[in-house]
Amino acid sequence: MRIVMKFGGTSVADLARIRTVADRVKREVDAGHQVAVVVSAMSGVTNRLVGWCQELSPLHDAREYDTVVATGEQVTSGLLAIALQSLGVEARSWQGWQIPIETDTAHGKARIQEINGAELIPRMETGQVAVVAGFQGIAPDRRVTTLGRGGSDTSAVALAAALKADRCDIYTDVDGVYTTDPRIVPAARKLAHISYEEMLELASVGAKVLQTRSVELAMNERVRVRVLSSFKDPTANDNEGTLVVDEDEIVEKQTVSGIAYSRDDAKLTVRRVPDRPGIAATIFGELATQNVNVDMIVQNLAADGTTDMTFTVGKADLPRARAALDGIRQQIGYAELLADPNVAKISVVGVGMRSHAGVANTMFRALADKAINIQVISTSEIKVSVLIAAEYTELAVRALHTAYGLDAA
Ligand code: ADP
Ligand code: ASP
Ligand code: MG
Repeated sequence: MRIVMKFGGTSVADLARIRTVADRVKREVDAGHQVAVVVSAMSGVTNRLVGWCQELSPLHDAREYDTVVATGEQVTSGLLAIALQSLGVEARSWQGWQIPIETDTAHGKARIQEINGAELIPRMETGQVAVVAGFQGIAPDRRVTTLGRGGSDTSAVALAAALKADRCDIYTDVDGVYTTDPRIVPAARKLAHISYEEMLELASVGAKVLQTRSVELAMNERVRVRVLSSFKDPTANDNEGTLVVDEDEIVEKQTVSGIAYSRDDAKLTVRRVPDRPGIAATIFGELATQNVNVDMIVQNLAADGTTDMTFTVGKADLPRARAALDGIRQQIGYAELLADPNVAKISVVGVGMRSHAGVANTMFRALADKAINIQVISTSEIKVSVLIAAEYTELAVRALHTAYGLDAA
């Protein structure tokens, strides 16, 4: 078998952990498998590197940001190769540009276009382990790029697709995908399986256990992804983790499979806008031009013929969004612009929603019972999201977890 093993930041946090990872990789090599490993930066390193860029200049050049933040993974790839060699395992490190992992030029959030396996495959066939730096690639102009926070997951899945690997094992600090973040809900349950679609939706609304793009890629390229713990004893048999699979492989379908939260959004309200055709097009057209993504939207009509337009944008985009809206104030003639960064988006996800009514209502009732006010609502085929005050995040997630019968027995 050919397998890709990915280890996240906490799994390579120090030299002892890197030795443990090397042991685990060696076990797969000894079992006769061809192995490529994808590593993240040591825990905390990427945050520090990002912090340095921001401290020097908040509006820094994205190319230089990538030059800086890609270095974390270079260190771990070399260290793991050394650790493997010291165990007698033949290993070689690879940076994104060496393979190469070709991306577009969207620095800081680049997308992988192509991975050439021509150099790696013959080496893996002769037993050499490829230790690949995750999170990074190279743009057509030969500058280093990075794939967005959490991007090593995407490196691993893309590599698994390119190498036609039989499995892509994502080793992390939890032993699988849970019904919600086990760090905030101790009663969360581990899922043996989750469908690509549900995982994609959960990731996109805040479940950071897998980067959204990695799930999208796995779904499109039919990569078998497993999420499991790097902290469990490798000789024990209780580390099956969670398999991400096709929906029809799941026998017991729940109405709601998981709950996610995100504190990465901010709420904007444009107050007292004249209610006439073209207003929404002007507001959201301008935001799109300024590269600001808008997520949830709600419009309220007032008796005086004006309307309030409320919507959410990424917190990081808030300054740009405000500037964009200030710029069209004269043109559309709104009364004021309100911004609130203290909001959280809570989402419930499940393919069972397609066939069950009342899912949203259970959510609204459970939040009302805790006296939590809902500010904005949005839905998709398999998801309901609400925006609430950030201070109620934990309370809301726990209440919903109970309301949908997800608590562990
Ligand atoms: P890594 O560094 O290995 O990539 P991450 O911190 O990116 O690890 O992702 C693992 C974390 O994701 C867990 O520690 C957990 O707190 C969080 N998480 C959020 N939602 C979930 C969920 N539904 N199931 C499991 N973990 C989740
Ligand atoms: N080191 C990068 C980050 O912290 C990539 C990753 O860990 O997946 O975002
Ligand atoms: Mg991660």
